Amino acid sequence: MERYAKISKKDFNRWLESLEDHGKLYGPKKKDGRHVFRPIKDVKELDLNYISTILPPKKYYFPQKERLLKFKIKPFKTAKAIRKFEEFVLFGVHTCDIAGIQCMDVVFRQEPLDANYINRKDRMTTVGIECLTPCDKYANCVSMGNHVPKGGYDIMLTDVGNKYIIHINSAKAESILRQRSYIKKCISADRYLLDAVRKKKEKIFKEEFIGRLTELYAVFSKLYDSEIWKDVGKRCVGCGNCTAVCPTCYCFDVLDEVSLNLNDGLRYRLWNSCQMDDFAKVAGGEDFRPGRSARQRHRYYRKFKYPIDKFSRYFCTGCGRCSRTCMAEINLTETVNSLIREHRNVSIGI
Ligand code: SF4
Ligand code: SF4
Repeated sequence: MERYAKISKKDFNRWLESLEDHGKLYGPKKKDGRHVFRPIKDVKELDLNYISTILPPKKYYFPQKERLLKFKIKPFKTAKAIRKFEEFVLFGVHTCDIAGIQCMDVVFRQEPLDANYINRKDRMTTVGIECLTPCDKYANCVSMGNHVPKGGYDIMLTDVGNKYIIHINSAKAESILRQRSYIKKCISADRYLLDAVRKKKEKIFKEEFIGRLTELYAVFSKLYDSEIWKDVGKRCVGCGNCTAVCPTCYCFDVLDEVSLNLNDGLRYRLWNSCQMDDFAKVAGGEDFRPGRSARQRHRYYRKFKYPIDKFSRYFCTGCGRCSRTCMAEINLTETVNSLIREHRNVSIGI
C-alpha cells in the first residue's frame, strides 16, 4: 500500500465503526466543557476538535493503578502475575501526546523490560490527528518541535477540508485500512493540499521559548543554583497535579495489600510524584530533596537535562498541561524563558 491514502469525511464514521474489529476504541470526547480520553461506545461521541485533554492518554498504556500480581502467604508463599491485556485503538491523539508515548517507550523498553507496559503498548494501535491551530497560551509544543507529526504512530490523519489525508506508518496500519473501498489512494492534488495545510500552519504556530532547544541544555547545565528555583518553590503548593497530567512522568510506587484473612493479597503499581513530600525520603528519615524548590527544580531537570544525558531526548512534549492545571499559576514557558534570560545575562557578565 502507498504510504499516503485519503478518506472522505462522509465515510469517516463508517471507518470508525469498522475499527471495533481491531479492539476497543478510545478517543477524545467532551466532558464538562473540556475533553477527556474515554471509551467510545458510539462513534458520534468522538470529538477531534479539542485542546489537550485533562489527562494524557497514558492511563491506557500505563494505568494510574494496576494489579501486578496475586500472592499467597499461607499455606505456601506463592505469587502469580496478573497479565490480562486486550487489543485497543487509541484514536485522535495529538502529536505532542504521541511524543509522550515515544518517551514512555524509551523508558519502559530499556533493561529490565517492563512486561506490563510492553504487553499493553504492543496491543495498542495509535491513530493521531494533526493539530492545525495551537491549543492555547499554555502549550509550548512548537519550541519542543512536537506540533508536526514525527512518527511514533500507526496512522496520522490530517484534515484538509472535506477529507482526511492518512499517513500509513506501520504494518498494523495497513491491516486496518486494507479492503476498505472508501479509502482511496492519494493523487498529487491531495499531496498538494497536505503541503498547503502545513505551510499555513507554519504561519500560525509560533515558538514559545525565547531560545532554541540547543541553548536549553547549556541553560540547565549552568543554572542549578539559580534563585528562580526558590521563587518557583515558594509559589508551589506541592499538589502533584503537574506530574499527574504530564505525558512523560512515569514514576510509580508498588503497594502490597494483604487480605483481612492474612493469607493472601494483591500487589499494585500506582502513579507516584516527585512533588510529594515523602518521595525522596529514605529509611532513617533522610530526605534527598527537601523543600518544594528542590522538588520543582527536579521536575524541570527531569524534562530538560537528565533525559538528554540518558536518552538523548527532551522529556517535555509541550502539551502545556502542567501550566494549564497549576493552581499556583506556575507556567513552564515563563520559567524556562526566565532561565534563558538569566543565563544570557550571566554569559555577558550582567
Ligand atoms: S501543579 Fe503547580 S502547585 Fe501543584 S505541585 Fe505542580 S507546580 Fe506545584
Ligand atoms: S512538562 Fe508540562 S508541558 Fe511538558 S510534557 Fe509535561 S505536562 Fe506537558
